[in-house]
Amino acid sequence: MAEPKPCRCLLMASGQEDMARLVAEYIATLPEENRVPEEVYRTRLVLCEGCEALNNGTCARCGCYVEARAAKRGLSCPALPAKWTAQ
Ligand code: SF4
Repeated sequence: MAEPKPCRCLLMASGQEDMARLVAEYIATLPEENRVPEEVYRTRLVLCEGCEALNNGTCARCGCYVEARAAKRGLSCPALPAKWTAQ
């Protein structure tokens, strides 16, 4: 039987509503100085959604939930070259 194709989608779109809610709650606890502005966050997620490494909300390169990783100011995309960089 063939493996299911990975879904290049974020947590909510992949049907993981509970995990999407937990990640959103986690992001809300980050101090504002450690979070990127909303516009940067949205841009990062668009880049992740177009990336071959995205698999059901998780980055296959680092294992992070991309919605959590993209929210953090000091982190960058783990791809070489990075698709988005630290702020
Ligand atoms: S490699 Fe970068 S752009 Fe691709 S899913 Fe991971 S964090 Fe997002």
